Amino acid sequence: MLLAPDTPRQSRRIWLQQAAGLSALSLISPWARATASSSQALILCYHRFADTVADSMTVRKTTFTDHIKAITESGAHVIPLADLVAFRQGKLKQLPPRAVVITVDDGHRSVIEVMAPMVRQTRWPITLFIYPSAISNASYAMRWEHLQQLQATGQYNIQSHTYWHPNLVKERKQQSPAEFERFARNQLKRSKAVLEQRMGKPVSYLAWPFGMFDEGLMEMAASEGYQASLALENKACTASDPMQALPRHLMVDALGGQRLRQLIDSAFSTGA
Ligand SMILES: [Zn+2]
Repeated sequence: MLLAPDTPRQSRRIWLQQAAGLSALSLISPWARATASSSQALILCYHRFADTVADSMTVRKTTFTDHIKAITESGAHVIPLADLVAFRQGKLKQLPPRAVVITVDDGHRSVIEVMAPMVRQTRWPITLFIYPSAISNASYAMRWEHLQQLQATGQYNIQSHTYWHPNLVKERKQQSPAEFERFARNQLKRSKAVLEQRMGKPVSYLAWPFGMFDEGLMEMAASEGYQASLALENKACTASDPMQALPRHLMVDALGGQRLRQLIDSAFSTGA
């Protein structure tokens, strides 16, 4: 270590800059100093968990164990999605360094059967995006009592993934404008209403099914009372990302612990 750092975070940054071969000048420039504050977050998107990879959206338990270790050892702070939204709305002054948000889509049974016991001790806040038509209905999905059980732990927050998970961009092409307007509004409205009624908590966030959305849908989500909507785009979430399309990094089994650690390190090495 060439310089005595004030904080472990600074130490990491300096080390990264040295590793990247940056000049000593950049370490003391105003630009470099500005990067010490964290104004972005890395949002992770999981789906299913199992012993083996049954499909492209399944992360194996061994991989997820490596992810937990990578997040912990990276010095990341796992924050509630609500904090990131509040920060973006100017209601929260700052984010902790290396802010990571964890989300899990679709309400698969493996969320309560496999994932929940693995993250219980971390106490990390986790947002579940649920499409209510599957709950207590589809064999692969959780039941309402499972969601209530998870919510009661205080660790989980239940939010909307539309009512039955349509590809809204595809539907727009197949329906008349008036039909689509009714259909899409119903998907956004009904999901929010059912989840609020079942869970007894406000639903303010939406995850676009398949990560598919367009400008019109973004406006519609805002008008239906969603403060933020989440997309799928493998990048960190910065101040320039629109509130109705916050990017999330898709977590797949091929992305191991080491790769996740690199993602966290690179997302925060340049600050912003
Ligand atoms: Zn989904």
